[in-house]
Amino acid sequence: MKTEKVDVLVIGAGPAGSIAAALLNKQGFKIKIVEKEIFPRFVIGESLLPRVMDHLDEAGLLERIKAEKFQEKFGAKFVRGDEICDFNFADQFSDGWKWTWQVPRAQFDKVMADEVARQGVSVEYGSVVSTIEFNGTKSVTTVVKPNGGEKKVEARFIVDASGYGRVIPRMFNLDKPSNFEARRSHFVHFTDGKRPGGIDGNRITVIVHEKRTWIWIIPFSNGTTSVGYVGDPQFYYSLPKDPVHLMRKLCDLNENTSERFKDEEMVMEPRSIEGYAISTKKLYGDGFVLCGNATEFLDPVFSSGVTFAMESGNRAAKLVTAFLNDKSVDWERDYTQYMLQGINTFRSYVTGWYDGSLHDIFFSKTTNPEIKQQICSVLAGYVWDLDNPFVKKHEQLLQTLSKVIRIESTIE
Ligand code: FAD
Repeated sequence: MKTEKVDVLVIGAGPAGSIAAALLNKQGFKIKIVEKEIFPRFVIGESLLPRVMDHLDEAGLLERIKAEKFQEKFGAKFVRGDEICDFNFADQFSDGWKWTWQVPRAQFDKVMADEVARQGVSVEYGSVVSTIEFNGTKSVTTVVKPNGGEKKVEARFIVDASGYGRVIPRMFNLDKPSNFEARRSHFVHFTDGKRPGGIDGNRITVIVHEKRTWIWIIPFSNGTTSVGYVGDPQFYYSLPKDPVHLMRKLCDLNENTSERFKDEEMVMEPRSIEGYAISTKKLYGDGFVLCGNATEFLDPVFSSGVTFAMESGNRAAKLVTAFLNDKSVDWERDYTQYMLQGINTFRSYVTGWYDGSLHDIFFSKTTNPEIKQQICSVLAGYVWDLDNPFVKKHEQLLQTLSKVIRIESTIE
């Protein structure tokens, strides 16, 4: 069997894989991406955070993506009954991007991967990694090609960006359960004929349906809109099983979706994902690094998934570059600890969302504007800015602030 030799094999052509491949390619390495699906392929994760713009820019992908004219995203609106909390990225603590996009991922990921290929990376679609053998300074990966035949790829390093596929964690028993409870999400893309005019119609809206159940509405520039419900599995027990009936029923349950989507057409079959939160025992090993969802995925509520995918792809590419240039690399400090800094910050916010303390903060009438700017930077993805107290002391400050707000509201 023929063996192809590359410097770096990247598994998966999603955001983590594309960013890593683009940066490594710029360094002059021979890169191959092996991707299981034929693009465009559906994947959920449509609301981006401004932090991704830094990564797209550095990887040389930004200008190509701008040309797609995706829906621009300048902030996020949170709604609970008639209470509204609006975050504008222009009004944030950290010195970063003030906007980003809401994207149908099939199109977004294809444009990125095509641009990476145009820049010189070999991308093989419909090709599935089946086994990997690590031996000393190289690895040999068996890839099943679209025609069912096999080929071998010898690589000096592997970047596993296989997302929910979790190729290396599954193959080498690295999966670790998340400390978050399992939740279920049910979602679809609708036509959106009654989309409100102005900023409100285009802005991502996150609605508190019940304390532990929430809804996303993510409008796209092509006129369709992504609508998803997220809740504990029990929330769904008494609801219809059929995906279409379930989606209609869910929309009926909340005033923010009932009228707007009542007669709208579903432009795809609604899908459910359950128990998506997952972690891993380690983020790197001899000859490989894990990126994006192949590492840890928390929860969709703050749209952090693609940001972590790109951040880890960027970081991994820089460390792999140093490693392949025979420089010493402190993977524990410069990869694991770095990534965990951001992941743990969002972990506190996700915990606060589901225990209700973040609802107290978001919907408080008395939140000080400076604090709101600091929280806004977290929601923009700037979770490595340790000058921001709501990053540096994320857990402690959120809990303290929500207690103060609760006490104040009992005094009023
Ligand atoms: P992916 O985008 O999943 O790409 C991995 C690629 O690897 C895939 O194309 C796959 O085909 C390929 N692959 C898998 N196995 C193999 C194999 N054996 N061989 C070769 N290739 C393989 N994130 C956000 O930022 N914003 C959101 O609004 C958001 N909403 C979400 C809503 C829900 C309900 C869920 C569950 C997640 C959401 N996310 C969101 C998270 C987002 O989906 C992921 O974090 C993001 O797609 C991760 O990117 P990635 O590059 O790591 O993986």
